[in-house]
Amino acid sequence: MSIRAKISEIVSCKADAVWSVADIAYSDYKNDFSCAIVIAQRYSYFLTEAEYDEEKYNTILLETTRNLNKKIGSLKILLDSYQIKNYVPAAVQNDEINLRVPFSFKEAAVHAGLGWIGKSDVLVTKKFGPRVRLGAILLDYPFLTCAKPIKKSFCGDCQVCIKACPDQALYGIDWKPGLTREDLIDYKLCNLKRSGFFMEYGRKSACGHCILVCPWGLSKSK
Ligand code: SF4
Ligand code: SF4
Repeated sequence: MSIRAKISEIVSCKADAVWSVADIAYSDYKNDFSCAIVIAQRYSYFLTEAEYDEEKYNTILLETTRNLNKKIGSLKILLDSYQIKNYVPAAVQNDEINLRVPFSFKEAAVHAGLGWIGKSDVLVTKKFGPRVRLGAILLDYPFLTCAKPIKKSFCGDCQVCIKACPDQALYGIDWKPGLTREDLIDYKLCNLKRSGFFMEYGRKSACGHCILVCPWGLSKSK
């Protein structure tokens, strides 16, 4: 079995994820790794906006992250067994001010052709919409064919996420390559409002109204 087939077996055997390979020549890791396997793991359950419950939504995020991390762990074991140099970048943000991660999974997913950046500033896949958790593993292995990056948004005239945001943090701008997070969202406002949860719950609010309303991927909801 080819290494690509083995990766597929680990990542998408239950049809609950899409994955692809990104050329990471654009990234700070380009001197150490040739590409990244990028995974968009479908939410463990598709909560509708009508049945919204923050705690339930937070549990879905945790469950989905657990499913994703299991796959990343298995991929690491596979790559190690082939003695392919690999690295799992941290998913946590560097700091609370700029809210940046060392390696952006969202940017990698666009380069891997998995989706585009929606007006909600999250990755939108055609299959599952934005109801995914993203992960990646970097590897030094030039024999996997990299996908073509996505270069346009498929949001069209939709404004649903803009209207759903309780804090009007989204600007309603259609993404195209070159636009930054700051062009699409007041991310500091989004973070500030979600951080308001801390005193009572010891964590930020998962919020996610802008994600749950997106029409993309809804037909794959159950
Ligand atoms: S996560 Fe919540 S506050 Fe942030 S943009 Fe989405 S709906 Fe608005
Ligand atoms: S809700 Fe509409 S505008 Fe927002 S990301 Fe989804 S398709 Fe794009």
